[in-house]
Amino acid sequence: MHPARARLIHNRPQQQGPVVYWMHRELRAADNWALTFALHQAAERGQALCVAFCLAKTYSLATLPHFAFLVHGLRHTASALEGLGIPFVLLRGDPALAVPEFLRAAKAGLVVTDADPTRLKRQWLAQALPRIDAPVWEVDGRNVVPARVVSDKREYMARTLRPKIHRLLPEYLDAFPALEPQPGAQTFPWPGPLPRADWEALLAEFGAPPAAFPPGEAAAQAQLDTFLRTGLPRYADDRNTPVDPASSLLSPYLHFGQLSAQRVALEVLAARGISTEARDGFLEQLIVRRELAENFCLHTPNYDTPEAFPAWATATLAKHERDPRPHLASEAELDAGETPDALWNAAQRQLLATGHMHGWLRMYWAKQIVLWSADAETAMARCLRLNDSLSLDGRDVNGYAGIAWSVGGVHDRPWPERAVFGTVRSMTFSGAVRKFDVRAFVARWSGAA
Ligand code: FAD
Repeated sequence: MHPARARLIHNRPQQQGPVVYWMHRELRAADNWALTFALHQAAERGQALCVAFCLAKTYSLATLPHFAFLVHGLRHTASALEGLGIPFVLLRGDPALAVPEFLRAAKAGLVVTDADPTRLKRQWLAQALPRIDAPVWEVDGRNVVPARVVSDKREYMARTLRPKIHRLLPEYLDAFPALEPQPGAQTFPWPGPLPRADWEALLAEFGAPPAAFPPGEAAAQAQLDTFLRTGLPRYADDRNTPVDPASSLLSPYLHFGQLSAQRVALEVLAARGISTEARDGFLEQLIVRRELAENFCLHTPNYDTPEAFPAWATATLAKHERDPRPHLASEAELDAGETPDALWNAAQRQLLATGHMHGWLRMYWAKQIVLWSADAETAMARCLRLNDSLSLDGRDVNGYAGIAWSVGGVHDRPWPERAVFGTVRSMTFSGAVRKFDVRAFVARWSGAA
């Protein structure tokens, strides 16, 4: 592993005692740099390693299907870890309290955790660290090029981040080491695996995961295999058409850390018979756009408010705040997908029915919410509420960046001036009609919910 992926965030004297990996973002056994780092630390010290996950009671706007996807996936990860001789400990409660309490009880000598710039995770860490006596290392296993390495400031747009990422890719896009079974696990001073009945009770508590996305590392890999066969070859031509799209549908797996973006990139690069346009077009989304979103949240404290907008967008939106709207949508209309726009309704119903909305439509969907809301702040709050509660991949840095792009011109440039949007880019129904078969999409989804 490249040593710059890991960062000491809590400098405490070295302790004797097991290494604990507090997993909270990269919820997988395979291709996980934090786990690789923790295994290395344990081996170097001759200590046992365990992985701990703390299930918080509430998480931002997450709903039962999100929790179901998470816990079903965790069960697979727990058994993969246990198969390697690495105990998996499931905690419940407020992570800021439950994790330090566990670390004390386990007499942890060193702690490893996932890097995550989102607010709730920063809060957990800020509250937990003063309660931890051991050194804590943070590992960036989410990004191919670690976010703190690629840039120390908020990047203006993809154009400014892209060359920095491309320059560092040869250094960071390396193969993952094979995971070896761990001999020392039996000595770990904590109860054995969660009994099967406890897992069953936990899974029952949250109900079934969304049918469209079977959870877990194996299902994520199966979805990647399907994409490599059927989507990637068409990606250059068909990624932006919501009717029979070529996109990967990997975002829920990437969001819940059940799949590594670096694994996806390596397999895309190894795939045969793929055009340069398809391969580069996909890697642009998977690496550059995805890591631009991480950069945005890392360097923008209020990434989910209009304070995140660039000055030109704030000014132009304020200038047009009193423009008459073609329609002022109610929350109920939006929730149910019953606005006067048949395409918007169909997109919303796709989201309601499957927990996923096609990428091009997400932009159109958010832009129409701007058009139908009294001001940008209301539009942003509505986009966040709907996206984060309904989309399985919601509450993700990609979503915060995508919504800030749609509503407030983040990572974009000024466009010709229009009503309501000012110089923030707008998107229209007629633009959609020119792009794909809107009638077919509406027919497919208009009844679904
Ligand atoms: P593919 O086209 O197959 O792309 C592969 C991967 O690249 C995606 O899974 C994703 O991780 C990444 N990616 C693709 N497009 C983008 C992008 N524009 N920005 C950052 N990363 C990207 N993405 C989320 O993961 N969660 C969200 O909550 C979310 N909300 C969004 C809301 C709005 C208003 C907008 C405009 C975009 C949002 N996106 C979000 C980004 C993007 O639309 C989705 O990542 C993508 O549609 C997921 O489908 P896919 O996996 O089939 O994508």
